[in-house]
Amino acid sequence: MQLSTGNRILKLISTGARLASSANTAQKRICIVGAGPAGFYAAQYLLKHLENSQIDIVEKLPVPFGLVRFGVAPDHPEVKNVINTFTKTAENSRVRFLGNLTLGKDFSIEDLRRLYHAVLLTYGADKDRTINIPNETLPNVLSAREFVAWYNGLPGFENLNPDLSGSTLTLLGQGNVAIDIARIVLSSADDLKKTDITEYALEALSRSNIKKVLLVGRRGPLQAAFTIKELREILKLPHCITSWRPNDFQNVEECLPDLQRPRKRITELMLKSLSEQKRSDGTGNMFMPIFHRSPVKIIGSERVQAVEYVANKLIDSRAIPTNETETIETDLVCRSIGYLSTNADKSLNFDARKGCISNVAGRVLKKTLTGSDQTIDDIEDKYEKGLYASGWLATGPTGVILTTMNASFGVADSICKDFHNNIIRVGDAKAGLDLVGRQVVTWAGWKAIDKEECRRGVEKGKPREKIVSLKEMLSIADGK
Ligand code: FAD
Ligand code: NAP
Repeated sequence: MQLSTGNRILKLISTGARLASSANTAQKRICIVGAGPAGFYAAQYLLKHLENSQIDIVEKLPVPFGLVRFGVAPDHPEVKNVINTFTKTAENSRVRFLGNLTLGKDFSIEDLRRLYHAVLLTYGADKDRTINIPNETLPNVLSAREFVAWYNGLPGFENLNPDLSGSTLTLLGQGNVAIDIARIVLSSADDLKKTDITEYALEALSRSNIKKVLLVGRRGPLQAAFTIKELREILKLPHCITSWRPNDFQNVEECLPDLQRPRKRITELMLKSLSEQKRSDGTGNMFMPIFHRSPVKIIGSERVQAVEYVANKLIDSRAIPTNETETIETDLVCRSIGYLSTNADKSLNFDARKGCISNVAGRVLKKTLTGSDQTIDDIEDKYEKGLYASGWLATGPTGVILTTMNASFGVADSICKDFHNNIIRVGDAKAGLDLVGRQVVTWAGWKAIDKEECRRGVEKGKPREKIVSLKEMLSIADGK
């Protein structure tokens, strides 16, 4: 076996090469699939609480950090500070980062379960939910995931070319992802150019004609999914007014005394903004939240012209359609109703309806069982031994990084318990993934990419210029 140290991409040439010493029988080999927050936080916990554990973090892309790199908005650099903690974890001698390896393509769950004592799946959610209304596939209807991936430089999305030639963008959904997109589109190019937004997106956004962004939700202000910090930020955007529809706020003020504190504060902020709202003088941008509307049809033949909505009334906080409809013109539509996980391996107990792996506190249920099955007590009968899931793949696509961290610590704790209680037995040494003939990007390879991105950023007065070509990433990682 040759484990190249000079080359940052490992190319193991001797057949039968194994990275683990088979003599070390007490070693606990764990494979984490996905190098996002869920994967890194689980690794951090395992390093601290599971003695003699050896962790491989296997990642589809040549670069780590998942949605922290490809989701978090470029104008929120402080959120990306978690990368420093992840880096410490990755640089621990008991951890290997193995980038450019994909579950479902380069290896299967069966392979991993054979080669590791425990396997933790944290491969996130890389598709998006659809609304399933007519004309949702028109060219000017994008998903928020695509739009975010485009401005954040996820390989494969650099040629999305969203059509920003019209004046109105409609965001369907009122979560923080929708707010992120609204803010990026309504920000000035001067502000964005100091961020790590990709150069091609900056260039396209600086030529954008979008002046009005509609943020359409099916329920009311009291149910809005965005949070106060994000709302406050958009209310303060320069050269942009926020225009609320007063009818959306009927009976809202009366509810204030009964609201929990966070909901009360955000509602007060909306009411304050409503009471202070000015008429547009037609020169600046406009952000316009619209409530109680569900899209039923996208109108247009070659491109979007309008969206038809049904008006909803609320019963027990649920949106119930009425007979009233409303059509609102738009030039571009972005569906922002949530990401969606996919099944990377057909052996998994994957709940296609919820879009996550069937699990209880991270332990993956046997394929014949569902989460609600309470009749089986014996852990060995109920769960796939040594197989776990965490992060958005296990919980569904909601929750900020902190939520993901807490959930992942909890799952990592279950793994520790299962080792300590001998549910996972470490009698047999496990070899870990056979890397022979594979082009794997190690942590040193990522550091080389990182260094080059920062160098290119300095030239442009920004923190980094992300490299979007996989080929280029691999070549830099290989020291070429
Ligand atoms: P991910 O971050 O998606 O990580 C999954 C990893 O698995 C990825 O690296 C992916 O490439 C890899 N992978 C996928 N498939 C495979 C495969 N088959 N084999 C191997 N690897 C694979 N939270 C905040 O606290 N603040 C914010 O400002 C914020 N902004 C956000 C903005 C957007 C647009 C989005 C969508 C989310 C944002 N969040 C934010 C939420 C936060 O990003 C998530 O809580 C968190 O990233 C979920 O972590 P995860 O590890 O489950 O998934
Ligand atoms: P989200 O917060 O769950 O919001 C989804 C939105 O889509 C909600 O308004 C929801 O309305 C709506 N929706 C869902 N299904 C719909 C349908 N069929 N028709 C119409 N509307 C529908 O999801 P997200 O915005 O994708 O964010 C995901 C997570 O990442 C969240 O936890 C978010 O806080 C986090 N995040 C955080 C930040 C930040 O901290 N700055 C930034 C981005 C993302 P209902 O409420 O009626 O279901």
